[in-house]
Amino acid sequence: MDQAYDFRRAARASHNDMHEGAPEAQSDNSIEASKHFDFLVIGSGVAGLRYALAVAKFGSVAIVTKSEPQESNTMYAQGGVSAVLDPADSVESHIRDTIVAGAFLCDEETVEVVCREGPERVRELIAWGALFDQSEDGQLHLAREGGHSHHRIVHAADMTGREIERALLTAVRTNPSISMFEHHVAVDLLTLQDGATVVCYGVDTLDMKKQKVVRFIGGVTMLASGGAGHVYPTTTNPLVATGDGVALAQRAHAVVSNMEFVQFHPTALADEGLPIKPEKRENAFLITEAMRGAGGILYNQSMERFMPLYDSRGELAPRDMVARSIDDQLKKRKEKFVYLDISHKPRDEILAHFPNIAAECLKYGLDITKEPIPVVPAAHYMCGGVQTGLLGDTSIEGLFAAGEVTCTGLHGANRLASNSLLEALVFAQRAVEPSVAYAFQMGGKKAEVEKVENECQHLVVAMDLKEDELKEVLCFTELQRKRLQHIMWDYVGIIRSTERLKVAQRKLSELEAEWKDHLVRNGWKQRMVSLEVCEMRNLISVANLVVSSALVRQESRGLHYTTDFPMLVESARLPTILFPSSSMNTWSSKLVHRMEVETR
Ligand SMILES: Cc1cc2nc3c(=O)[nH]c(=O)nc-3n(C[C@H](O)[C@H](O)[C@H](O)COP(=O)(O)OP(=O)(O)OC[C@H]3O[C@@H](n4cnc5c(N)ncnc54)[C@H](O)[C@@H]3O)c2cc1C
Repeated sequence: MDQAYDFRRAARASHNDMHEGAPEAQSDNSIEASKHFDFLVIGSGVAGLRYALAVAKFGSVAIVTKSEPQESNTMYAQGGVSAVLDPADSVESHIRDTIVAGAFLCDEETVEVVCREGPERVRELIAWGALFDQSEDGQLHLAREGGHSHHRIVHAADMTGREIERALLTAVRTNPSISMFEHHVAVDLLTLQDGATVVCYGVDTLDMKKQKVVRFIGGVTMLASGGAGHVYPTTTNPLVATGDGVALAQRAHAVVSNMEFVQFHPTALADEGLPIKPEKRENAFLITEAMRGAGGILYNQSMERFMPLYDSRGELAPRDMVARSIDDQLKKRKEKFVYLDISHKPRDEILAHFPNIAAECLKYGLDITKEPIPVVPAAHYMCGGVQTGLLGDTSIEGLFAAGEVTCTGLHGANRLASNSLLEALVFAQRAVEPSVAYAFQMGGKKAEVEKVENECQHLVVAMDLKEDELKEVLCFTELQRKRLQHIMWDYVGIIRSTERLKVAQRKLSELEAEWKDHLVRNGWKQRMVSLEVCEMRNLISVANLVVSSALVRQESRGLHYTTDFPMLVESARLPTILFPSSSMNTWSSKLVHRMEVETR
């Protein structure tokens, strides 16, 4: 253990603004009264905010969110939202492009629903105040991205997510029915098992500022907690993206699917190729797909254009193809990055379309209007997640889900660019009607609500540990988190094999056992909570889900490429579904407070 490790500083600052400032109050671990709302929303990205605004017409809403409200994958989305808004385009074409990108694994009904309802969801965003770029004729400016056969990407320069988040948060803040609980980390869902049915009644959270456990009881819980990029060491996702939602839902026995399909964005900024080296960042800076759509060309370090060697669509090939091609070039040439060049385009055009990227590169001495940009693939998007139906319903009663945490069937084996903001908007709306109906019938379940509220074991903050014990726990957890990320990158990355996946499985299981032993030796109890430990538990769950799903798929399709089964197998054209099982008995997969209805 590094003796120079500054425990107090790390505990305060290890997770950026999530750990901003010292806790306002020391915990006395007393149990606070539960908070009751009609609707509980976990997450304040596009899915959570859009849902909250819609259900606020029907009752009280609590949004619990892990960090500052705007901190989310949504905030970093650059390219835009895809929707058929040009009369020359068609829904059929959008459907086709989505299914082709998804390597024919998409659920066709879901694709149809999303592509058809998309334009209306975009118009609503505009009505809520989102400002998107317009052409000179006053119409929306529609960009084109890889995999799309038309211009259909609605955008706000290269900061589309920031604009959507701004508009939705402004609307949420002025809505008297919505209460925002920031710096509240959802730890575990509160569920009751009745035979084969699991019912969700709310969620336990850790209030990071007050260092208190706060129990939220709700008529309906909407899981909108986003992605899991931090299961890998290099990711475009902000620090909040640790796969908490999938892990929470899995522990509560939700069905999870398609977790092998992790999208690696082909072009994250390769810091080591910049003239001035930035300090180590928590999330890699993304160079949007739209740059390839606008004519950006990929070169290796000898300035040889390589994409046409791999795919006739060149730089406009889907992401998985581009990421694999770059990976191949890097491995063959033993280089750390390739180049993406847009400097052949007029300077004004580059600066108008990519002001944010131009400014970021210039900070580190690179003028993108004159020089190529060093880029490398990074974990970007999780296509798999909590399985939902067409109304955002999950296999747990009372639990709905929307956005990146889900697997709705839209993306299949690979997500088409700019389809994820769209999916979040469509499913956040689709879940409204059924969840309002469910919340109303909750009045008849008073006894169950009371049972869960009063009898579910209460979690406690870890402040009770002695300082040196807590220091040990946090240091070791941080080390194990890095180890886990490297296992995932080395053995479960862009190109996989059965042997390497099995090695990953073994290493993850050893890592979990070692981590658990270390914590227990230092006085940790399973019902204790701290952000670091909760995230680690979730990362282990997500890593295991990715590996198990990857082992099940004995073919190469979309984002899942394995050297043992390099071909697409028609008979394997089925989603990978992971049902809850009795073997879920490890520390990270076990729910602390599983409760069952007493047999009558
Ligand atoms: C750099 C980047 C660029 C992208 N560009 C595009 C694009 O151009 N077009 C496109 O369609 N998609 C894009 N994506 C993907 C897209 O942004 C996301 O898929 C989408 O925004 C997800 O929205 P969401 O609401 O599901 O999740 P998020 O926006 O990630 O929000 C999740 C929320 O849940 C909170 N949360 C997480 N865990 C917990 C917990 N335990 N307790 C409480 N709260 C929690 C987070 O703090 C956050 O508020 C991009 C993603 C990235 C990272």
